[in-house]
Amino acid sequence: MSLDEFMERHPELSFDTARAADDKKDTPHLEACLLHFTEYVSGKEGGNFTWTADVRRQVSRHPVYRRPAYSVDEFGTLPTLSRSELRKLREPFDYEASGTTTAYGDQTSGTSGAPLTVVYSPRFMSQYLHLNMFKVAIRAGIRDLGGRQVFAVTITDNPSLGAGVIIPDPLDLVGLRLIWYVDPSDPQSIARLTTFLREFDPEVLSSKPNLLQMLLDHWETESPEPPCGPRFAVSGGAMLPDALRQQMADYFGCPVISAYAISEAGYLGSECERQKIHLDESLHERFEILPAEGAADTEPSAGDSGELAVTSLSNLCMPLVRYRVGDLATMSRNTCACGAPGPVLDELQGRTTLVFDLGGGHVLSPTRYMDLFKEHPELREYQLTQRDTRSFLLRIELADDVAPSSRPVIYTRIQNAISAGMPVAVEIAWEEHTFAPEGAKFARFRSEVSA
Ligand SMILES: [Zn+2]
Repeated sequence: MSLDEFMERHPELSFDTARAADDKKDTPHLEACLLHFTEYVSGKEGGNFTWTADVRRQVSRHPVYRRPAYSVDEFGTLPTLSRSELRKLREPFDYEASGTTTAYGDQTSGTSGAPLTVVYSPRFMSQYLHLNMFKVAIRAGIRDLGGRQVFAVTITDNPSLGAGVIIPDPLDLVGLRLIWYVDPSDPQSIARLTTFLREFDPEVLSSKPNLLQMLLDHWETESPEPPCGPRFAVSGGAMLPDALRQQMADYFGCPVISAYAISEAGYLGSECERQKIHLDESLHERFEILPAEGAADTEPSAGDSGELAVTSLSNLCMPLVRYRVGDLATMSRNTCACGAPGPVLDELQGRTTLVFDLGGGHVLSPTRYMDLFKEHPELREYQLTQRDTRSFLLRIELADDVAPSSRPVIYTRIQNAISAGMPVAVEIAWEEHTFAPEGAKFARFRSEVSA
């Protein structure tokens, strides 16, 4: 089936013709990045970043780095940068400094504080879109991909991309990559996905753990035969529980690989055959472990444990210097048991994503409320607590400059937006609340319902 025929059969999926053409023109760069990564994995290259005057000049085009603290020679004395600091700055980056006219925007999920707008240069975007899945495969020792019409299906419950997106491989090594939207509370939406997987049998299935768990439970009750036979499955976006990994591997009969990424920097790393996450210092300049934010400066981190930070300069729109990723981890630079050198996470105590169980097979993923801050600019913070299966408490804090007379209307509007996102009718009580300054332990979504 040709790409045109495929698109005719799936008019609901979108396809960005202009970007596909641009990415096609940029194949020499993509090939060079892929080769560089392959050599990095085999230990031939990478991991020798130094903070030079040239690097300093390059990053100083961005307002956030135009401070005396960044004019020092010693990398280890540079300030660190956190998501909450970035959010406070009006214009931290000069997007035009990258010399490009097009940039692609994204947003952090907002599960750990107000969302942050992220901008990628076209080049950074194209390697993010096209190479990540190859990198996951290469790192896990999986070879000989290609030969199926559909290479990878990434399943999302985030409706911001519509029904989904078709992404052809500009390198022509493998078939199509798809981002596919599924509404977990709609049986028809799940059935459409299942039918598609049966027909096209992709080589890779990828999603986040809570969605994988939901789909797997559904498919298992439907049939002992899985809908497709992937070469491998990828879990990202949150920690992959061991039980889910085992359940997936048993049902699909393929390896399940955990990938590690953040919106601000894309792919950070993924697991080798020994299930250790190797960080990618072929793309990013340097990873390091810092004392956790909020810990006293004098408080040494225990061994190599602390908060992971990345220095990543190849996204020219938004280079990151000693950026605090927000996850606690233990990192080692000893050669891994798989034989590959470079930084490895011995332990990752990452963010976890909560899913509300509303009973009767209905679940709610908080990603549904990702745009709440964008849609309600008066909203400063909120917290949604599940007190009983279908009963919630919503705490709302509005910006100080919202006039008292307009507050009641806004509270109601926000409460309605939360209600509208629920797949079944629930009771939502709300109250005004003033949240303490953001701390690492703040959870916007909480459940008091015991499992
Ligand atoms: Zn390894």
